[in-house]
Amino acid sequence: MKCPQLFAYTNRMEIDLIPASALTRGSIGHILQAHQHAIWGTQQGGCWVDEDWVDDASTLLSPEDAAHAYCDKEGQGHEHLDRMIETYRRYMARFPEPPGRVWAVESPITATLGEKDGQWGMWVPTKGAEIVPTPLDCPGHPDHGKPLTLSRRLDMAIIDRAGKYWIWDHKHQARVVASRSVDAYAIDGGFAAFRIMGQQLWGAQFGGVALNLIETQGPWKVSRPTVPTTPHRDTHFAEMLWQAEHRLAQLDLRGDHWTWPKAQHETTCYGRYGACGGIRMCFYGESVKPSGHAK
Ligand code: SF4
Repeated sequence: MKCPQLFAYTNRMEIDLIPASALTRGSIGHILQAHQHAIWGTQQGGCWVDEDWVDDASTLLSPEDAAHAYCDKEGQGHEHLDRMIETYRRYMARFPEPPGRVWAVESPITATLGEKDGQWGMWVPTKGAEIVPTPLDCPGHPDHGKPLTLSRRLDMAIIDRAGKYWIWDHKHQARVVASRSVDAYAIDGGFAAFRIMGQQLWGAQFGGVALNLIETQGPWKVSRPTVPTTPHRDTHFAEMLWQAEHRLAQLDLRGDHWTWPKAQHETTCYGRYGACGGIRMCFYGESVKPSGHAK
């Protein structure tokens, strides 16, 4: 939705535009958090880890061993281990207790666009309810007739003392600015998806979405704001997904990935974290395509 051209660079031309170091640090940070919370979950009587119910902590590596194992398996990232393990230890010194009853860690959820109980929208499977998918309607496209789905992975779901379920999203950042408006996260479509999925899964017992912002250098701040709700946007989120999928499918039929529509907007192309990774390619085209940088 943000920029079809950016989508083409990353999802059709397989050009990796996120700096590898930031990606690797984020992955190591997630592994540390996931293992710690999964261990807590097993000690509390069990929790979902990925798609399995786990209730034996001895089957899980310690967070630090898991981070090392990840880098060994990937054959890279070892240079980030000291910083990320320091980040984790400082986090644990500050928050030595679980933030609630850990219910799920790294848990995948898939929603489908279609009809449920006579109502059209984006639906996650729930007990006893049948979803009739409304498939992609784009004759000639390889996915024509296939269901449209949205998959997300919850970093964590916890149950608080009041019995409310919360979806948590861990973010490791070089700078955590606690006063920064959470509205930017609230309007993000990914968080809308979390909220819609959470409401369907847990109904009135759903508390909302929270961020766990963890600073990866001194002064090692941690901020845990709640993401505000966006009830108006959420009413037509599914419809926007539907339209975006069909626009992209039409572009797929056209091909020529270098000339897809471009956002061409001052703050979209040059945002909070600096320039969009595709900006040079939008300036000059194929001649500056990064070499050896494919996913
Ligand atoms: S620089 Fe702007 S137009 Fe080009 S891919 Fe990035 S967001 Fe899109």
